[in-house]
Amino acid sequence: MKITFLGTGGSIPTPQRGLSAVAVRRKNELLLFDCGEGTQRQMIQAGIGFHRKAKVFVTHMHGDHVLGLPGLLQTMSLLGRTNELEIYGPEGIKDFVEAINRTVRFTLTFPVKVSEIDEGIVCEEKEYMVTAAQSGHMSPSLAYAWTEKPRPGRFHTKKAQKLGVPEGPLWSKLQSGESVRLADGRIVEPEMVLGASRAGRKIVYTGDTGPSENVVRLAENADLLIHEATFEDEMKERAIEDGHSTPSIAAETAKKAGVKRLILTHISARYKDADRLLQQAKQIFVNTEVAEDFLELELPLQED
Ligand SMILES: [Zn+2]
Ligand SMILES: [Zn+2]
Repeated sequence: MKITFLGTGGSIPTPQRGLSAVAVRRKNELLLFDCGEGTQRQMIQAGIGFHRKAKVFVTHMHGDHVLGLPGLLQTMSLLGRTNELEIYGPEGIKDFVEAINRTVRFTLTFPVKVSEIDEGIVCEEKEYMVTAAQSGHMSPSLAYAWTEKPRPGRFHTKKAQKLGVPEGPLWSKLQSGESVRLADGRIVEPEMVLGASRAGRKIVYTGDTGPSENVVRLAENADLLIHEATFEDEMKERAIEDGHSTPSIAAETAKKAGVKRLILTHISARYKDADRLLQQAKQIFVNTEVAEDFLELELPLQED
């Protein structure tokens, strides 16, 4: 599972920072959180293809989070994409995508499924689900949690051998949680050969937000919290007024939610060097980094 920050600037792009977008690549799927202007070019630079199964989660309808969609849809079409693209977002996202189709002249080569969503579980797959909660920005604005379902425990080959389960398809069945019948009629249950199930991973992406108890709840025990920090602590009043955060607001959220790791993004164009912001957050939550465009990280599976 690879997480790539495609755009880390707030509101206005700079030579160093594009507009909001975070790509999560997992197995054969791409999940994109926000799609600021220029996201498609950042994807090319990061070596992220345009054909794989994909979902886009838009936090809110401010231009710096959504204006990358028209270009992305056009490029995907020019490249002959055929896989469906799912787009999730708050009220307005349907009109926006429809207007692109109606007014910008290109032919979509693939189905686009747009879902206007509110709080709660917005999509559920076999191995994960995505949940949304209202953030503390202008309404409506959503923060998203990607939560992996618990994975089956480790397979103990010795226990299987001892029970007389022959290696091969029966092992795979047990590994995926099914019980099996042996040649002599005995039934072997998965819990007889599997260790305790292993916790899934959790990533939370806030989009734009001021201090928010909703975001704290959504981020509970996350492995990674990607939180906006538009302004430095000295501008806290202005930040809160505009529905934005400072490093200490983000760090407080990380601390209250008990997350493992915090990454700050949506950095205002006024900061050429974000080290100040990093130091302010670290005073409250040590395991903090400030994202740069193309920062890439792996989120390892949790072991027993
Ligand atoms: Zn923004
Ligand atoms: Zn905004």
